[in-house]
Amino acid sequence: MSRIRGKNTKPELIARSALHRLGYRFRVNRVDLPGKPDIVLPKYKTVLFVHGCYWHRHESCPNATTPTKNRERWVEKFAANVARDRRNEVDLRREGWVVTVLWECELKHHPSEAVVAALADAGMSVSDVRRARLDDSELRRAADRRFSRSWRSSDRQG
Ligand SMILES: [Zn+2]
Repeated sequence: MSRIRGKNTKPELIARSALHRLGYRFRVNRVDLPGKPDIVLPKYKTVLFVHGCYWHRHESCPNATTPTKNRERWVEKFAANVARDRRNEVDLRREGWVVTVLWECELKHHPSEAVVAALADAGMSVSDVRRARLDDSELRRAADRRFSRSWRSSDRQG
């Protein structure tokens, strides 16, 4: 759940590194906006959420498992999370924001592609020249170097 998630998780840092390399200016953790979007691109009136697959229930994702114990309660809890995410999206759109989601598993496995796809989703196309600035292993290394302690918390939460 975003409420209990730590700030500066590794997926967030990877996403931010990628955006930085692509030349985008952004702000992080705008608490004044619905759902407290992780990344805000003011110039494009676009917000990006970096969602953990488990708590935010990434569809068809192997990380979005459901505990067998107290299953019904978990199902209810997850449904409430998803409903809250939807409400936040609706509220943001109503305020004129473009909303897009980056999933943790995608940022982990193919970060460059994930970020470019999310931007495309938001109607921002990245040219091949700019796309060439992104390198998956370099993005991961940069996040490791700068915030070596951040991965643990997000890893276990989905
Ligand atoms: Zn996933």
